[in-house]
Amino acid sequence: MQSQLTNRHATRFLSPEDIARMVRRQGLATTLNGMANYIHQDFLRWNSFEKSARLAAHSPDGVIELMPIADSSTYTFKYVNGHPMNTAQGLPTVMAFGVLADVNTGFPLLISELTLTTAMRTAATSAVAARALARPDSRVMALIGNGAQSEFQALAFHHMLGIEEIHVFDVDPDATAKLVHNLQCNPDAANLRVVVCTSTADAVQGSDIVTTVTADKTRAAIITPDMLKPGMHINGVGGDCPGKTEIHADVLRAAKVFVEFEPQTRIEGDLQQMQDDFVVTELWQVLSGRKTGRNNTAQITVFDSVGFAMEDFSALRYLHDLSQALHIGAEIPLIPELPDPKDLYQLIRPTARVMQLRA
Ligand code: NAD
Repeated sequence: MQSQLTNRHATRFLSPEDIARMVRRQGLATTLNGMANYIHQDFLRWNSFEKSARLAAHSPDGVIELMPIADSSTYTFKYVNGHPMNTAQGLPTVMAFGVLADVNTGFPLLISELTLTTAMRTAATSAVAARALARPDSRVMALIGNGAQSEFQALAFHHMLGIEEIHVFDVDPDATAKLVHNLQCNPDAANLRVVVCTSTADAVQGSDIVTTVTADKTRAAIITPDMLKPGMHINGVGGDCPGKTEIHADVLRAAKVFVEFEPQTRIEGDLQQMQDDFVVTELWQVLSGRKTGRNNTAQITVFDSVGFAMEDFSALRYLHDLSQALHIGAEIPLIPELPDPKDLYQLIRPTARVMQLRA
């Protein structure tokens, strides 16, 4: 495959290794910050997007979702699943890929892996939300659920919010050991203290921020009202599907709750436990200064994250720009290049000589 795009109409392909190369080239902190800036900027122009709740296909063990969104020039979609029992079969719980296309022609400009990218964009979004909602003097974070997403959450909060100490807990001690190992091996996390805890309550004790990023297709109540302390910020990431929650309803009642796109979060978030008249605030309104975030230092805030298509739109835009700047990625012949665009049949005409994009 060519490393640089040369054809007039070319679809760029980014593999997981391409994304990893870009991250290694510039560092994870820079990548998370760059992605967060794109996400923040796109939240500020919320009303320029054509939005809808994602389309979900549920099965007993998981869900497969399509997440489309567009502005006047760019269209993106993500394919993503959530199968908490996958890891027992050697597959990730969450796997994804996505497309970025030109609205004017419909041409797919980019097809990219989004499994690794989803972890980065979710952590970047959590950090964007926490920067607006958590107490600025927050230094200690509990991290409940130490699976695939957890390092990215830990490092985003360390680099972007100044979190200095992380209290980690998972029902699977091997997952916690993996997280501790990955953080200890990371020179960029040399100043991050990691404390292994014996329960969620133990981890939440003394924490300013609580991130829940567990995977279990059940109505769990991992964070309960007795664990709350004034001024806490809860970053609820794992309750993102009907019948899958992490935060007790009384925690939501005790807090000011923020969401990405309200119609989607009412179906999928921890918010699914609440009546329709339970008031929430969309994050874009806080970021754009239209609404207040936390009202005072004692208030409990909850970011009920489910993952919204706009965050993938921002991530795909960021990767597209970065891959062009770093000359990483390949050109793939996804769409046929036809000398006469009305003559599609030429592709299969036995004697035809067909011009094609070369891989
Ligand atoms: P993973 O399977 O790799 O890790 C999940 C971890 O949670 C596992 O180690 C498991 O042992 C642990 N766990 C399960 N129940 C627990 C409990 N009661 N207490 C403590 N730990 C528990 O999954 P992942 O890729 O890290 O994803 C985690 C969750 O985040 C999933 O539910 C996924 O759907 C969700 N997610 C949300 C977003 C978003 O934008 N909000 C994006 C990506 C993933």
